[in-house]
Amino acid sequence: MILKGFKDILPEDIDKWHKLEHSARKVLESFGYKEIRTPILEKTQLFARGVGEATDIVEKEMYTFEDRSKESVTLRPEGTAGVVRAFIDNNLYDTPLKRFYYIGPMFRHERPQKGRLRQFHQIGVEVFGIEKAAVDAEIVMVNIKLLSELNINDYTIEINNIGCPVCRPEFSKKLKEYFEKHYDKLCDDCKRRLYRNPLRILDCKNKNCSAIARNAPKITDSVCENCKNHYKEVKQHLDFLKIPYKENPYLVRGLDYYTKFVFEIKTDRLGAQGTISAGGRYDNLIEQLGGKPTSGIGFAAGCERLIELMPLADTKPIVFYIANLGVDSYALEILKTVSEIGATYVEFENKSLKAMMKKANKIKARFAIIVGENELKNREVVLRDLSNSTQKTLKFDNIVDEVKKWL
Ligand code: ATP
Ligand code: MG
Repeated sequence: MILKGFKDILPEDIDKWHKLEHSARKVLESFGYKEIRTPILEKTQLFARGVGEATDIVEKEMYTFEDRSKESVTLRPEGTAGVVRAFIDNNLYDTPLKRFYYIGPMFRHERPQKGRLRQFHQIGVEVFGIEKAAVDAEIVMVNIKLLSELNINDYTIEINNIGCPVCRPEFSKKLKEYFEKHYDKLCDDCKRRLYRNPLRILDCKNKNCSAIARNAPKITDSVCENCKNHYKEVKQHLDFLKIPYKENPYLVRGLDYYTKFVFEIKTDRLGAQGTISAGGRYDNLIEQLGGKPTSGIGFAAGCERLIELMPLADTKPIVFYIANLGVDSYALEILKTVSEIGATYVEFENKSLKAMMKKANKIKARFAIIVGENELKNREVVLRDLSNSTQKTLKFDNIVDEVKKWL
């Protein structure tokens, strides 16, 4: 039995996945992003230092184990830390292309439920070294372009300013004072968060905690001048681009590295797990992970949630079904030739012609190529158009030219 929270992606669903991956590559590359592929396994300390010790991910969700040389390693729970590590390790500070994207599996030991798996996939982008608010607006624009390419149109964009290491300590203090007054009603996790990282309480999904959080002080009232201006500029760019958004003063992210601008794209079509994608700026992460001070920003979208929202993708059709009546080598020769024109499925099961035609229809093949001893002897094939059941006997050597006429 498969592990709890893990899922097979079966051939019947694969057309949607291919469409998702293909559309993502197309959109991201058209915006000047280049793919980066980093390992799925990294040193544990990368995530402890990157994602943050006091986050749910690091505290209780990571797949961490000792490898055979007793090194603590972790299956990546998210993509940003690995991309930052690769940026630093490969000394990419001077690369002219500083826009990256990735697509791949992530692992978090969460409680499995609809839209929440233990192995899930993300499409994400990261941009390094651009401090300007224009790039904050750019990644939102890229994100919604990706959604529209997938025909996903009903969502809302929520944004917030979560400050920086200059202004956040002051805000954390105010939050702590506020939540201390409600200590008894907080869930056990939040009681712990109160002293480790009070901002995290704003993100708690527990009903009591979120009710209390609704009246908490707003971070936007405490941010410093620099953060305030940056956020204002991001909004000006979004307004200019006519991208609608909603300000949510309680929006925080599940990872500690974010600064200034953060956003989430949500839908009410997915029930409780309504966040499709999320991201923001992380101007201190690269330095925090041992690199030279370099700003960063990115987002990640959950593939399983995108798949759920996508309308049915066109299935890639099987063009030829080779109805092989006991002439295997001849069928292989035909397969080699016609597969260059279109997807071909060759039959090696001993079936009657009638059963084969039934199967050809079932797999929605466009043509059947029927071959038996007679056809082999004359180097011919019977080509049947399954859309109207007309058929014709052709010389094998003419098959490519003839089929092209029929297509
Ligand atoms: P949430 O609040 O839903 O737990 P998060 O704050 O952990 O999300 P990120 O780590 O920023 O979110 O992940 C970005 C996106 O990846 C999410 O919006 C979601 O679409 C997807 N995602 C995150 N965790 C899972 C999961 N366990 N299963 C499926 N998709 C996920
Ligand atoms: Mg989470």
